[in-house]
Amino acid sequence: MTIDHTMEYLTGEREDEAKHWMHAAADMACRALCRSAKCGAVVVKDEEIIGAGYNAPPLDSEKHRMCDSQVGEGKPKYDRTCCMHAEWRAALDALWHHSDRIVGAKLYFTRVDDHGDILKSGRPFCTVCSRLALDLGLSHFLLWQEEGIAEFETGEYNRLSYEPWEG
Ligand SMILES: [Zn+2]
Ligand SMILES: [Zn+2]
Repeated sequence: MTIDHTMEYLTGEREDEAKHWMHAAADMACRALCRSAKCGAVVVKDEEIIGAGYNAPPLDSEKHRMCDSQVGEGKPKYDRTCCMHAEWRAALDALWHHSDRIVGAKLYFTRVDDHGDILKSGRPFCTVCSRLALDLGLSHFLLWQEEGIAEFETGEYNRLSYEPWEG
């Protein structure tokens, strides 16, 4: 049977490098302004961060904060979250400043707890971020899961994000 997926857990030097970028994403997550979760992301190309972001209300503005609205009760309709996602911010940052380098770049995402410690990620689920990463031409989406740092090809990441929850 052919194994039809391209996710791999990184090892050796590739894992060490990925940890470096995950900690950079965690530094961004520490700046998050959302009241629901602290998330951070970096877009990396040629061993350099070309975009970075944390989740927060649009424009980092209290005026636009929706964290305390009816999120999860049918609104917002398309993603059920309140803030700008860290991944959107990182992608937009890369587009603003390095649009010629974004194709083939990798996105590293993590959450942190209230102490700034990295929280391991579960499976891919955000179909907004998965489509954005794929459509922008990013090559890979990385999550630090319990089993290790998982590197997904963005097409697979998008397909997995659409799979129904199990159990
Ligand atoms: Zn929020
Ligand atoms: Zn998302």
